[in-house]
Amino acid sequence: MSRKEELYAVCPLLVPQDRNEMTYDGFINIYDKTYRLCIARKNTDSLKSISLSCSWRLWNILHPYKDAIKHKLNQCENLASFLVDFKNLTEKLVKCNQDEHMKKSLPLHVYSLLMSELEAIGWDKLMFVNELFNVIKLKARDIKNREHVITIHILQEYPNTSPVCSVDLPQPFHIKDTSNESPVKDIYTTFCKVIDKYQEFWNVMDEIDEKCWVLEPENPKRADTFRRIALGSNASLLVKMNVCHVKGIPECHFLGPDSLIANFRQNLYKNLQDWNDEKDILENMENVLLTKFPSRQTMKKEDFNMECGICYSYRLNDVIPESACNDSRCGQLFHTSCLYEWLRGLSSCRQSFNIIFGECPYCNKPITVKVK
Ligand SMILES: [Zn+2]
Ligand SMILES: [Zn+2]
Repeated sequence: MSRKEELYAVCPLLVPQDRNEMTYDGFINIYDKTYRLCIARKNTDSLKSISLSCSWRLWNILHPYKDAIKHKLNQCENLASFLVDFKNLTEKLVKCNQDEHMKKSLPLHVYSLLMSELEAIGWDKLMFVNELFNVIKLKARDIKNREHVITIHILQEYPNTSPVCSVDLPQPFHIKDTSNESPVKDIYTTFCKVIDKYQEFWNVMDEIDEKCWVLEPENPKRADTFRRIALGSNASLLVKMNVCHVKGIPECHFLGPDSLIANFRQNLYKNLQDWNDEKDILENMENVLLTKFPSRQTMKKEDFNMECGICYSYRLNDVIPESACNDSRCGQLFHTSCLYEWLRGLSSCRQSFNIIFGECPYCNKPITVKVK
Protein backbone atom coordinates (compact mmCIF):
# COMPACT_ATOMS: atom_id res chain seq x y z
CA MET A 1 0.00 0.00 0.00
CA SER A 2 1.47 3.41 -0.94
CA ARG A 3 1.60 6.18 1.64
CA LYS A 4 -1.24 8.01 -0.13
CA GLU A 5 -3.48 4.94 -0.02
CA GLU A 6 -2.54 4.48 3.62
CA LEU A 7 -3.48 8.10 4.27
CA TYR A 8 -6.83 7.58 2.62
CA ALA A 9 -7.37 4.51 4.80
CA VAL A 10 -6.50 6.25 8.10
CA CYS A 11 -7.92 9.73 7.35
CA PRO A 12 -10.70 9.27 4.79
CA LEU A 13 -12.14 12.69 5.62
CA LEU A 14 -8.93 14.59 4.90
CA VAL A 15 -8.94 15.56 1.26
CA PRO A 16 -6.17 17.08 -0.88
CA GLN A 17 -7.41 20.33 -2.40
CA ASP A 18 -5.10 20.43 -5.40
CA ARG A 19 -3.03 18.16 -7.56
CA ASN A 20 0.30 19.10 -5.94
CA GLU A 21 -1.06 18.37 -2.48
CA MET A 22 -0.32 21.90 -1.30
CA THR A 23 -3.42 21.93 0.90
CA TYR A 24 -5.36 19.25 2.74
CA ASP A 25 -8.68 20.14 4.28
CA GLY A 26 -11.23 18.16 6.23
CA PHE A 27 -11.52 16.18 9.44
CA ILE A 28 -9.42 13.75 11.39
CA ASN A 29 -10.91 11.05 13.63
CA ILE A 30 -9.13 10.39 16.88
CA TYR A 31 -10.84 7.63 18.84
CA ASP A 32 -14.51 8.58 18.99
CA LYS A 33 -14.03 12.30 18.31
CA THR A 34 -13.78 14.22 15.04
CA TYR A 35 -11.55 17.27 14.77
CA ARG A 36 -11.32 19.86 12.00
CA LEU A 37 -7.89 20.02 10.39
CA CYS A 38 -6.43 22.09 7.59
CA ILE A 39 -2.83 21.81 6.40
CA ALA A 40 -1.31 24.16 3.86
CA ARG A 41 2.22 24.62 2.62
CA LYS A 42 3.82 27.41 0.66
CA ASN A 43 6.27 25.54 -1.53
CA THR A 44 6.34 22.02 -2.92
CA ASP A 45 9.87 20.98 -2.06
CA SER A 46 9.79 21.66 1.66
CA LEU A 47 7.55 20.52 4.46
CA LYS A 48 8.99 23.28 6.64
CA SER A 49 6.71 25.96 5.23
CA ILE A 50 3.64 24.14 6.49
CA SER A 51 0.93 25.83 8.49
CA LEU A 52 -1.39 23.64 10.43
CA SER A 53 -4.74 24.86 11.69
CA CYS A 54 -7.11 22.76 13.72
CA SER A 55 -9.98 23.01 16.18
CA TRP A 56 -8.98 24.51 19.52
CA ARG A 57 -9.70 21.22 21.30
CA LEU A 58 -7.06 19.47 19.23
CA TRP A 59 -4.74 22.50 19.46
CA ASN A 60 -4.85 22.29 23.28
CA ILE A 61 -3.65 18.72 23.13
CA LEU A 62 -1.00 19.24 20.45
CA HIS A 63 0.41 22.56 21.64
CA PRO A 64 2.80 21.19 24.31
CA TYR A 65 4.22 18.77 21.70
CA LYS A 66 4.88 21.43 19.07
CA ASP A 67 8.56 20.54 18.89
CA ALA A 68 7.92 16.82 18.49
CA ILE A 69 5.51 17.58 15.62
CA LYS A 70 7.98 19.92 13.94
CA HIS A 71 10.62 17.25 14.32
CA LYS A 72 8.32 14.74 12.65
CA LEU A 73 7.70 17.18 9.78
CA ASN A 74 11.42 17.58 9.20
CA GLN A 75 11.83 13.85 8.95
CA CYS A 76 9.03 13.06 6.53
CA GLU A 77 9.53 12.90 2.81
CA ASN A 78 6.07 14.01 1.76
CA LEU A 79 2.86 15.36 3.16
CA ALA A 80 0.96 12.08 2.93
CA SER A 81 3.60 10.30 4.94
CA PHE A 82 3.63 13.10 7.53
CA LEU A 83 -0.15 12.91 7.91
CA VAL A 84 -0.09 9.16 8.53
CA ASP A 85 2.57 9.65 11.23
CA PHE A 86 0.74 12.71 12.54
CA LYS A 87 -2.44 10.72 13.04
CA ASN A 88 -0.55 7.98 14.93
CA LEU A 89 1.23 10.52 17.10
CA THR A 90 -1.96 12.46 17.81
CA GLU A 91 -3.74 9.29 18.90
CA LYS A 92 -1.00 8.54 21.36
CA LEU A 93 -0.92 12.13 22.62
CA VAL A 94 -4.70 12.23 23.08
CA LYS A 95 -4.34 9.08 25.12
CA CYS A 96 -1.48 10.58 27.16
CA ASN A 97 -3.49 13.73 27.62
CA GLN A 98 -6.51 11.83 28.92
CA ASP A 99 -4.32 10.01 31.37
CA GLU A 100 -2.56 13.17 32.48
CA HIS A 101 -5.76 15.15 32.53
CA MET A 102 -7.25 12.68 34.96
CA LYS A 103 -4.02 12.90 36.92
CA LYS A 104 -4.14 9.18 36.94
CA SER A 105 -1.22 7.47 38.57
CA LEU A 106 0.24 4.51 36.80
CA PRO A 107 -0.68 1.10 38.18
CA LEU A 108 1.63 -0.05 40.98
CA HIS A 109 3.23 -2.87 39.04
CA VAL A 110 4.26 -0.32 36.38
CA TYR A 111 6.16 1.72 38.99
CA SER A 112 8.07 -1.29 40.20
CA LEU A 113 8.87 -2.31 36.64
CA LEU A 114 10.08 1.23 35.80
CA MET A 115 12.23 1.32 38.94
CA SER A 116 14.00 -1.89 38.05
CA GLU A 117 14.45 -0.71 34.46
CA LEU A 118 15.99 2.60 35.58
CA GLU A 119 18.19 0.72 38.01
CA ALA A 120 19.49 -1.36 35.11
CA ILE A 121 19.97 1.69 32.86
CA GLY A 122 21.77 3.57 35.64
CA TRP A 123 20.31 6.44 37.68
CA ASP A 124 23.00 8.79 36.40
CA LYS A 125 21.29 8.61 32.99
CA LEU A 126 18.02 9.97 34.39
CA MET A 127 17.69 13.68 33.68
CA PHE A 128 14.10 14.33 34.61
CA VAL A 129 10.99 12.56 35.77
CA ASN A 130 7.62 14.21 36.49
CA GLU A 131 5.55 13.67 39.61
CA LEU A 132 3.39 10.94 38.08
CA PHE A 133 6.42 9.21 36.67
CA ASN A 134 4.87 9.06 33.21
CA VAL A 135 7.35 11.44 31.57
CA ILE A 136 10.96 10.30 31.76
CA LYS A 137 13.98 12.01 30.19
CA LEU A 138 17.15 10.00 29.78
CA LYS A 139 20.52 11.22 28.56
CA ALA A 140 23.32 9.50 26.70
CA ARG A 141 26.79 10.68 25.71
CA ASP A 142 28.42 9.74 22.43
CA ILE A 143 32.13 9.10 21.71
CA LYS A 144 32.73 12.84 21.19
CA ASN A 145 31.03 13.59 24.52
CA ARG A 146 27.97 15.18 22.87
CA GLU A 147 24.87 14.85 25.03
CA HIS A 148 21.66 13.39 23.56
CA VAL A 149 18.29 13.24 25.27
CA ILE A 150 15.30 10.98 24.79
CA THR A 151 11.91 11.81 26.32
CA ILE A 152 9.68 8.85 27.03
CA HIS A 153 5.95 9.14 27.80
CA ILE A 154 4.64 6.12 29.66
CA LEU A 155 1.03 5.14 29.00
CA GLN A 156 -1.39 3.46 31.41
CA GLU A 157 -1.21 0.09 29.70
CA TYR A 158 2.58 -0.04 29.98
CA PRO A 159 4.38 -2.34 29.20
CA ASN A 160 1.72 -3.73 26.84
CA THR A 161 1.46 -0.43 24.97
CA SER A 162 4.79 0.93 23.90
CA PRO A 163 5.65 4.45 25.17
CA VAL A 164 5.71 7.59 22.99
CA CYS A 165 9.25 8.84 22.43
CA SER A 166 10.59 12.14 21.27
CA VAL A 167 14.22 12.41 20.15
CA ASP A 168 16.49 14.86 18.36
CA LEU A 169 17.76 12.64 15.53
CA PRO A 170 18.10 13.24 11.78
CA GLN A 171 16.01 10.21 10.82
CA PRO A 172 12.86 8.60 12.24
CA PHE A 173 13.43 6.66 15.42
CA HIS A 174 11.45 3.44 15.24
CA ILE A 175 10.50 1.35 18.20
CA LYS A 176 8.56 -1.82 17.68
CA ASP A 177 5.26 -2.39 19.48
CA THR A 178 6.15 -5.19 21.82
CA SER A 179 4.69 -6.78 24.88
CA ASN A 180 8.26 -6.79 26.05
CA GLU A 181 9.44 -7.16 29.62
CA SER A 182 11.45 -3.96 29.78
CA PRO A 183 10.51 -1.54 26.98
CA VAL A 184 12.17 1.56 28.48
CA LYS A 185 15.48 -0.22 28.88
CA ASP A 186 15.24 -1.61 25.32
CA ILE A 187 14.36 1.82 23.95
CA TYR A 188 17.33 3.35 25.73
CA THR A 189 19.67 0.65 24.40
CA THR A 190 18.35 1.17 20.86
CA PHE A 191 18.74 4.94 21.30
CA CYS A 192 22.42 4.53 22.28
CA LYS A 193 23.05 2.29 19.26
CA VAL A 194 21.33 4.73 16.92
CA ILE A 195 23.44 7.60 18.28
CA ASP A 196 26.58 5.66 17.35
CA LYS A 197 25.32 5.40 13.79
CA TYR A 198 25.18 9.20 13.35
CA GLN A 199 28.69 10.02 14.61
CA GLU A 200 30.11 10.81 11.19
CA PHE A 201 27.11 12.98 10.33
CA TRP A 202 27.37 15.02 13.54
CA ASN A 203 31.15 15.37 13.13
CA VAL A 204 30.55 16.98 9.74
CA MET A 205 27.77 19.24 11.04
CA ASP A 206 29.88 20.31 14.03
CA GLU A 207 32.79 21.10 11.73
CA ILE A 208 30.59 23.34 9.56
CA ASP A 209 29.13 25.07 12.64
CA GLU A 210 32.57 25.66 14.07
CA LYS A 211 34.38 26.88 10.96
CA CYS A 212 31.74 28.63 8.81
CA TRP A 213 29.21 31.36 9.30
CA VAL A 214 25.97 29.45 9.52
CA LEU A 215 22.94 31.65 8.87
CA GLU A 216 20.37 28.91 9.28
CA PRO A 217 19.13 27.16 11.28
CA GLU A 218 19.48 29.84 13.93
CA ASN A 219 20.03 27.28 16.68
CA PRO A 220 20.86 24.01 14.92
CA LYS A 221 19.39 20.88 16.44
CA ARG A 222 20.96 17.43 16.14
CA ALA A 223 18.11 16.52 13.80
CA ASP A 224 18.83 19.30 11.30
CA THR A 225 20.38 17.98 8.11
CA PHE A 226 20.90 21.31 6.35
CA ARG A 227 22.94 24.48 6.84
CA ARG A 228 22.83 27.83 5.09
CA ILE A 229 26.43 28.99 4.91
CA ALA A 230 27.47 32.59 4.19
CA LEU A 231 29.57 32.95 1.02
CA GLY A 232 30.03 36.69 1.41
CA SER A 233 27.82 39.74 1.49
CA ASN A 234 24.35 39.04 0.03
CA ALA A 235 25.27 35.50 -1.01
CA SER A 236 24.82 32.19 0.73
CA LEU A 237 24.78 28.47 0.05
CA LEU A 238 22.22 26.02 1.38
CA VAL A 239 23.66 22.53 1.77
CA LYS A 240 21.48 19.52 2.50
CA MET A 241 23.40 16.51 3.72
CA ASN A 242 22.65 12.96 2.81
CA VAL A 243 22.59 11.35 6.26
CA CYS A 244 23.29 7.89 4.82
CA HIS A 245 26.27 9.08 2.81
CA VAL A 246 27.67 12.03 4.71
CA LYS A 247 30.91 12.48 2.80
CA GLY A 248 29.17 12.37 -0.57
CA ILE A 249 28.10 15.40 -2.56
CA PRO A 250 25.38 17.28 -0.67
CA GLU A 251 22.41 18.99 -2.33
CA CYS A 252 23.43 22.62 -2.96
CA HIS A 253 21.22 25.68 -3.48
CA PHE A 254 22.72 29.12 -3.96
CA LEU A 255 20.94 32.25 -2.83
CA GLY A 256 21.79 35.78 -3.88
CA PRO A 257 21.98 37.99 -6.97
CA ASP A 258 22.98 36.19 -10.20
CA SER A 259 26.02 38.44 -10.53
CA LEU A 260 27.43 36.93 -7.33
CA ILE A 261 26.38 33.32 -7.50
CA ALA A 262 26.70 32.54 -11.23
CA ASN A 263 30.41 31.89 -10.74
CA PHE A 264 29.90 29.56 -7.82
CA ARG A 265 27.27 27.63 -9.73
CA GLN A 266 29.53 27.27 -12.75
CA ASN A 267 32.45 26.08 -10.65
CA LEU A 268 30.26 23.56 -8.90
CA TYR A 269 29.17 21.91 -12.18
CA LYS A 270 32.59 22.14 -13.73
CA ASN A 271 34.53 20.65 -10.83
CA LEU A 272 32.06 18.18 -9.41
CA GLN A 273 34.10 15.24 -10.71
CA ASP A 274 36.96 16.32 -8.41
CA TRP A 275 34.84 15.54 -5.36
CA ASN A 276 36.75 13.04 -3.23
CA ASP A 277 34.74 11.03 -0.69
CA GLU A 278 37.91 10.46 1.35
CA LYS A 279 38.31 14.15 2.12
CA ASP A 280 36.46 16.34 4.61
CA ILE A 281 33.32 17.90 3.33
CA LEU A 282 34.45 21.52 3.79
CA GLU A 283 37.70 20.88 1.99
CA ASN A 284 35.79 19.25 -0.87
CA MET A 285 33.31 22.10 -1.10
CA GLU A 286 36.05 24.73 -1.17
CA ASN A 287 37.93 22.79 -3.86
CA VAL A 288 34.89 22.41 -6.03
CA LEU A 289 33.60 25.99 -5.60
CA LEU A 290 37.14 27.45 -5.84
CA THR A 291 36.51 29.61 -2.81
CA LYS A 292 37.28 29.86 0.89
CA PHE A 293 34.23 30.11 3.10
CA PRO A 294 34.36 33.22 5.29
CA SER A 295 35.58 31.90 8.63
CA ARG A 296 34.53 32.71 12.16
CA GLN A 297 38.13 33.58 12.99
CA THR A 298 38.51 36.31 10.40
CA MET A 299 35.02 37.73 9.96
CA LYS A 300 32.17 38.95 12.11
CA LYS A 301 28.53 38.33 11.40
CA GLU A 302 28.02 42.06 10.83
CA ASP A 303 30.45 41.86 7.91
CA PHE A 304 27.79 40.16 5.81
CA ASN A 305 24.81 42.08 4.60
CA MET A 306 22.06 39.48 4.65
CA GLU A 307 19.14 41.65 5.72
CA CYS A 308 16.21 42.71 3.60
CA GLY A 309 16.81 46.16 2.15
CA ILE A 310 13.22 47.20 2.82
CA CYS A 311 12.30 45.98 6.32
CA TYR A 312 15.94 45.71 7.55
CA SER A 313 15.32 42.33 9.14
CA TYR A 314 16.63 38.89 8.24
CA ARG A 315 13.71 36.75 9.29
CA LEU A 316 10.19 37.93 8.50
CA ASN A 317 7.50 35.45 9.60
CA ASP A 318 10.25 32.84 9.43
CA VAL A 319 11.04 33.68 5.79
CA ILE A 320 14.50 34.93 4.80
CA PRO A 321 15.31 37.44 2.02
CA GLU A 322 15.14 35.39 -1.19
CA SER A 323 14.86 38.04 -3.91
CA ALA A 324 17.89 39.99 -5.06
CA CYS A 325 18.77 42.94 -7.27
CA ASN A 326 20.78 41.47 -10.14
CA ASP A 327 22.76 44.63 -10.81
CA SER A 328 26.37 43.67 -10.12
CA ARG A 329 27.14 46.89 -8.22
CA CYS A 330 24.05 46.58 -6.00
CA GLY A 331 23.07 42.94 -5.26
CA GLN A 332 20.78 43.98 -2.41
CA LEU A 333 18.58 41.22 -0.94
CA PHE A 334 14.85 41.59 -0.22
CA HIS A 335 12.07 39.47 1.19
CA THR A 336 9.91 38.55 -1.77
CA SER A 337 6.83 39.86 0.05
CA CYS A 338 8.53 43.18 0.95
CA LEU A 339 9.70 43.69 -2.64
CA TYR A 340 6.25 42.81 -3.98
CA GLU A 341 4.57 45.42 -1.73
CA TRP A 342 7.22 48.00 -2.59
CA LEU A 343 6.94 47.53 -6.36
CA ARG A 344 3.15 47.60 -6.28
CA GLY A 345 3.34 50.99 -4.59
CA LEU A 346 5.35 52.49 -7.46
CA SER A 347 3.52 54.44 -10.16
CA SER A 348 5.92 52.98 -12.74
CA CYS A 349 5.14 49.39 -11.76
CA ARG A 350 4.00 47.02 -14.55
CA GLN A 351 2.69 43.50 -14.38
CA SER A 352 2.93 40.87 -17.09
CA PHE A 353 1.42 37.48 -16.28
CA ASN A 354 2.74 36.70 -12.81
CA ILE A 355 5.83 38.93 -12.95
CA ILE A 356 5.95 42.45 -11.59
CA PHE A 357 8.47 44.89 -13.07
CA GLY A 358 9.80 47.96 -11.31
CA GLU A 359 12.96 49.59 -9.99
CA CYS A 360 15.27 48.47 -7.20
CA PRO A 361 14.72 50.70 -4.13
CA TYR A 362 18.52 50.90 -3.79
CA CYS A 363 19.97 51.52 -7.23
CA ASN A 364 16.89 52.26 -9.39
CA LYS A 365 17.92 49.56 -11.87
CA PRO A 366 15.16 47.31 -13.24
CA ILE A 367 14.09 44.54 -10.87
CA THR A 368 11.35 41.90 -11.06
CA VAL A 369 9.44 39.80 -8.59
CA LYS A 370 7.21 36.78 -9.14
CA VAL A 371 3.69 36.93 -7.76
CA LYS A 372 2.96 33.76 -5.82
ZN1 LIG B 1 11.78 42.54 4.27
ZN1 LIG C 1 19.71 47.37 -6.86
